Amino acid sequence: MHTAICPGSFDPITMGHLDIIERAASIFDRLIIAVMRNSEKRCLFTPEERVELVRASTAHVKNVSVVVSDKLLVDLCRETGAQAAVRGLRAMSDFEHEFQMALINRRLYPDMETVFLTARETHQYLSSSVVKEVGALGGGISDFVPPAALEGILVKLKRNG
Ligand code: ADP
Repeated sequence: MHTAICPGSFDPITMGHLDIIERAASIFDRLIIAVMRNSEKRCLFTPEERVELVRASTAHVKNVSVVVSDKLLVDLCRETGAQAAVRGLRAMSDFEHEFQMALINRRLYPDMETVFLTARETHQYLSSSVVKEVGALGGGISDFVPPAALEGILVKLKRNG
């Protein structure tokens, strides 16, 4: 049984995240999506809202479960028996930070591998920040977020705008 964790802020989930989740779920037997509460980023959506949007968006992926976590990723891996963490890699924006985190995590827990899936060409420009910026100014975000999450994201952006 090969288990992987897909950690992130998911503030909110985008089509880029969903693509990585679906591809990772087809590689591993079990995929745990960990919505990280302790991200250094200041999030717009609460952890519970982020979990709900991820759950709704991934309901069709049978071997996926969603948890909220305020633990270190390596501790979550130890506890769940996950052998790998899966991260998406966009050109330009992600490499340096991801490389650093992968090395630190290996130092903390040598039994864990970090697996990188390259972002699809069409998703290279896509981020949660872009979705929030465009959506807050009234731009269309339906191409950028999973259909099941669209309504919840629009409601929150409207309430905050
Ligand atoms: P974090 O705050 O941990 O970086 P994010 O929610 O921003 O959390 O991202 C979670 C993971 O999804 C990261 O590995 C990130 O590189 C990846 N990711 C984000 N946007 C995209 C995208 N458009 N395509 C592919 N992967 C992405």
